Amino acid sequence: MSSNKEPKVAYFCMEYGLDKAIRIYAGGLGILAGDILKAAKELNKPMIGIGILWRQGYTKQLIAEDGRPYDSYHNNDYMYKLLDDTGITVTVRIRDEDIICKVWKLQRYDNVPLYLLDTNHKKNANKWITGQLYGWFVEERIAQELILGVGGIKLIRKLGLNIDIYHFNEGHAVFAGIELIREKIKQGHTFDEALAEVRKEIVFTTHTPVKEGNEKHRLDSIRYMGGFRGLTLEQMVKIGGAPFNMTVAGLRLSHMANAVAELHAVTARKMWEHVDNKPPIIAITNGVHHKTWVDQRIREAYDQGKLLWPVHQELKKELIKYIKQKTGVNLSSDKLLIGFARRAAPYKRSDLIFSKASIIGPYLKEGKIQLVFSGKAHPLDDTGKRIISSLVKMSKKYQHSVVFLEDYNMEIGKKLTRGIDLWLNNPRRPKEASGTSGMKAAMNGVLNMSILDGWWPEACEDGVNGWQFGDGYQDSDQDKQDEHDLKALYEVLLNKVVPTYYHNRERWEEMMKASIESTYERFSAKRMLKRYYKEIYTF
Ligand SMILES: *Cc1c(COP(=O)(O)O)cnc(C)c1O
Repeated sequence: MSSNKEPKVAYFCMEYGLDKAIRIYAGGLGILAGDILKAAKELNKPMIGIGILWRQGYTKQLIAEDGRPYDSYHNNDYMYKLLDDTGITVTVRIRDEDIICKVWKLQRYDNVPLYLLDTNHKKNANKWITGQLYGWFVEERIAQELILGVGGIKLIRKLGLNIDIYHFNEGHAVFAGIELIREKIKQGHTFDEALAEVRKEIVFTTHTPVKEGNEKHRLDSIRYMGGFRGLTLEQMVKIGGAPFNMTVAGLRLSHMANAVAELHAVTARKMWEHVDNKPPIIAITNGVHHKTWVDQRIREAYDQGKLLWPVHQELKKELIKYIKQKTGVNLSSDKLLIGFARRAAPYKRSDLIFSKASIIGPYLKEGKIQLVFSGKAHPLDDTGKRIISSLVKMSKKYQHSVVFLEDYNMEIGKKLTRGIDLWLNNPRRPKEASGTSGMKAAMNGVLNMSILDGWWPEACEDGVNGWQFGDGYQDSDQDKQDEHDLKALYEVLLNKVVPTYYHNRERWEEMMKASIESTYERFSAKRMLKRYYKEIYTF
């Protein structure tokens, strides 16, 4: 491999958010993977994607009459029409059974092919391993991860591709590393040699800075499922510890790792401080794909130095119309419209803004502040579901100014981040890894009002291109932190945002321009991918 040629990369991810119709994604991780493939396609980078064809995808989460979310799954077999059959199959041994995986290739991505593995094959006794993304229980998850990792490597061998770098986006793919080690041992290397060799080819991206969010498995479960791939217990422990931590394994299998924002890198380094034999964890802040997430009309107005407001209003009215269709509620295009869409996890504090009804209530009753929410809870997460219920309850309490859009997906994500006036983000710092929705908003001239977490500390010029609140305050006492941040939220919202919106349109528009100016290039998927090639795809 000559040094002036770019490395050929195999990108592994459990989910890809490419298009609303291709329901093989759940959230941010998949959206990132999708945006990376799109950027690679446009930059014509030597990359392939490896993923799974989830027959039922992630939950379609709807709201019942009583306001509670429920999950509904469908076989999305129409997706087969969007895919080409490669005619290739690979076999992965799971629980002492050979599982056949069909291999599909997504159309339209020829120069950056995305290969999707699918266990829905007539000869398989169990066709449902690739049924539901993040569904079911522990052993099934291991089976899914074996399909992605082991199946992915076997596929690469079958295709005869020369891959220089294996990129594991999150820990789900680490069985690919185990499989690479198995290959090397078969060629006559010792385990230690094999590990040292494969590390040169692997890079790893870590995500959640919430410890419990990092997947662990009992070693006997992994052994039972066939995940050792010939390695000994001791060797497995050397990689992932006991219990086997997928993130720790990702770190110990790679020679370079990255976090997804500057602050996240600091947090991740501290979080994995105790892990020996880990690579440097550098920061490569996420970016988003322009064509997918930025509205052409607002970009054009910006480029041509035209007024942004009329275009923004047009986008806002489109969103309001969509909301009317979905919920029956008719929001006003002349009143401040705030958006908030997140996975329902406690640290994201979706309902923080409602904490003091005596303060926020009058604004909502009067309609001076309007709120649109969306988001899903993991199907097995009762706490998350309670959060959604509480938001739905608020939409009933403030019927004319608060709405909840069910089944959060890429379409809703797109409409929200271009049609609202203000994007609100209030995680309990520093638990947000990056947060790409805020980038999408910023590039559309939608102002961010956010805690200094994730990507925002890198971009925020307070009062110039958006607002921060909370001043980066952290407290190990959660109640104290919540109280502090709530006070800051109300202060900024009611004393800065609301007056600017209603009484200083000129300034608001200046801020919209500054928002686009300061984020468009800097947080683009292309910039992110170029940094990947330069800073972690090294060998
Ligand atoms: C952008 C996007 C995400 C990622 O959002 P975060 O800001 O990282 O939470 C998740 N889901 C959808 C549908 C999106 O459009």
